[in-house]
Amino acid sequence: MFGDLNDLNEIAENLKADIKKNIDVNAYSLWFESMDVLKMTDLTIAVSVPTTINRITIESKYKNLIIQAVKNMYDLNIQVIIYSTQDGKISKERVDADERALIAGDAAETPPQAENTESEFITNGNMPGLDANRIFGIEYTFKNFVIGSSNRLAYKACTVVAQQPATAYNPFFIYGPSGLGKTHLLYAIANEYKQSFRNARVLYTTGEEFTNSLINSLAEKQHQAQYLQFFREKYRNCDMLLIDDIQFIEGKKSTQEEFFHTFNALYVSGKQIIMTSDRPPRNIETLQDRLTSRFESGLIVDIQPPDLELRIAILKRKSEDMGINVPNDVLFYLAENISSNIRQIEGVIKKLNAYSILNNTGITLELAKTCLADILSGTEPTNVTVEKVINLVAQKFTVPQEELKGRKRTKEIAFARNVAIYIIRKITDLSLPKIGKVFGRDHATIYSAINSIDEEAKNNASLNTEIEEIARLAKG
Ligand code: ADP
Ligand code: MG
Repeated sequence: MFGDLNDLNEIAENLKADIKKNIDVNAYSLWFESMDVLKMTDLTIAVSVPTTINRITIESKYKNLIIQAVKNMYDLNIQVIIYSTQDGKISKERVDADERALIAGDAAETPPQAENTESEFITNGNMPGLDANRIFGIEYTFKNFVIGSSNRLAYKACTVVAQQPATAYNPFFIYGPSGLGKTHLLYAIANEYKQSFRNARVLYTTGEEFTNSLINSLAEKQHQAQYLQFFREKYRNCDMLLIDDIQFIEGKKSTQEEFFHTFNALYVSGKQIIMTSDRPPRNIETLQDRLTSRFESGLIVDIQPPDLELRIAILKRKSEDMGINVPNDVLFYLAENISSNIRQIEGVIKKLNAYSILNNTGITLELAKTCLADILSGTEPTNVTVEKVINLVAQKFTVPQEELKGRKRTKEIAFARNVAIYIIRKITDLSLPKIGKVFGRDHATIYSAINSIDEEAKNNASLNTEIEEIARLAKG
């Protein structure tokens, strides 16, 4: 068996050189140029190509060229499995299982390998090509994470977890609003951990994928036991489990039940568990108490929206990374006017760059203003607007942002929460149940929140002004 990336690259090059001799040059560059070898044993070879069309074409017309090339180069009679990266995740497990099935001659009997798990990656060092960087095409590392006072603690804790997995903080829980770097940090941990523990198995998934994957297993009536076992093995058979956006399992009883067992199995065998969420465990409504207390037994850190300094630092760093020169006055202007969502900061920089290339000009304050107006001109996805409202209301009423989505009913918090609900209703087209979801409440509660602010605003001019100002800022 060949496991090393260098070996695999070499095999791919050798095979391609042989194939090239036996096929028209155009066909070669169309179908084989970008083929990678994922794994090769004495009996099988697994290759990947970028698109479904590539895969189908090779499968139906050119498979023999690969078989022949292996024969020519390595004197092996081999069976071929072809994957396309477009068809979803290619995990090591999937390759191993397909390979076993192929050898056993009963490929049809293998359970489909978790189709909705596109963003998962698994590695145990045998498939170094299949890592997060490659799948996402973005480098999410500690090196390119910009640190400021709002994320320093989270950053620090993440580096410790990556270096001392399962001993320092387990489980480890990061929470904070959308777009502030939680997924980035999760990947940074996985990437760093993989570098120091090359043979470790890392599994990244999301609350949503975990849930879907479970639902699929349960839906399979005929082979349910087999599917469930497969599901369980998959999640319990890793050294580090990263679950992004765990809040998705809110209100899903059987998912929570299953996750509880997964959690325990990993925890007792000394495996690291890391989760992110948009709110602390306590505020994930209908999260079973035993899960809440498990989550709380480790370390919980939060990420806050970036302050002005950090926004400037990120703008600087991102523009430098893109090789564009943004003058200081523009940096300040953007940092002051931009929302606190870092995803949006990236958007502005990209847009600036595109504009300056199109117009063939340097980046000026004028240009920055146009860009920003574009970005904020209501074309924002609703969830960004929602987060902005919550953010602005929290600032204005000086209550912690997470409390607005939380359970607390003290007068100040409930009032601020109602104002946020009111504004969201006013400036987005979200339905009452949808708004309810944001705040973990039912539509009737949302309805009465809106009414109460409506009443209050009738005789309260300063509240009116505040509401209008927040609405204006949130809309840009
Ligand atoms: P979340 O998961 O919290 O919604 P992401 O991790 O997806 O947020 O971050 C959104 C974008 O902002 C990503 O492209 C990420 O790289 C970038 N980003 C967030 N925080 C930072 C930071 N501190 N330094 C550099 N980039 C960041
Ligand atoms: Mg995320």
